[in-house]
Amino acid sequence: MSSSRRAEIAANLAAVRERIAVACAAAARDADEVTLVVVTKYFPASDVRLLVDLGVADVGENRHQEAEAKHRECADLRQPGGPVLRWHFVGGLQSNKAAAVAAYADVVHSVDRAKLVQRLDAGAQDRPGPIDVLLQVSLDPPDRPGRAGADPADLPELAALVEAASRLRLRGLMAVAPLGEDPAAAFARLADVRRDFVAAHPAADRLSAGMSGDLEAAIRAGATHVRVGTAVLGSRPSVQ
Ligand SMILES: *Cc1c(COP(=O)(O)O)cnc(C)c1O
Repeated sequence: MSSSRRAEIAANLAAVRERIAVACAAAARDADEVTLVVVTKYFPASDVRLLVDLGVADVGENRHQEAEAKHRECADLRQPGGPVLRWHFVGGLQSNKAAAVAAYADVVHSVDRAKLVQRLDAGAQDRPGPIDVLLQVSLDPPDRPGRAGADPADLPELAALVEAASRLRLRGLMAVAPLGEDPAAAFARLADVRRDFVAAHPAADRLSAGMSGDLEAAIRAGATHVRVGTAVLGSRPSVQ
């Protein structure tokens, strides 16, 4: 384990925690209402170990194969009495991978269609506890190609499916600010969607929004979970 890498991550983490604290203060929110999920995609399991050592309890991944391998490499960290380490799956989820993701993900942020619900629930049968599920809502216009996330109008039906699944727990919503739009405007729309959602599902009050570039705007709009990669771990390699 390189001590300079540890120092780099420690300094970045301190800076991100400070940004979160400042954003919470500006929004008159308590800093411990916001959970930092460090997105470790493209970075090695050794970085996950450093993060855990530095007090990070939540890491996020967006590709199944990489996530599964890293989870396996870090299996020894999950001991009774050991540090808390929760794995968040934050990326687009293929239906045929959902059951496999359910085997290691503690939280899935990207549920945006009915088929995933059934597959995640089936894949969760050997887990010790249920999976926390966030519904990903699209903030893009409906005609945008490559749009990820459910249309806000489809949330009630999806929520009902998750609530009916015995091994899934509906916890809230997730969104990504669209490229080329002021994130504050997009997150303001998200806050409206969330208000209606929480009125119907009071226990599902988590909101996963905000990344390295826009976490302040997300916290202002009520985010409870920010997903931060680059600002903690540095630029991702462009070739994998
Ligand atoms: C990669 C990723 C992030 C982190 O993005 P950064 O800009 O590196 O902070 C957040 N959310 C999702 C869904 C991602 O895929």
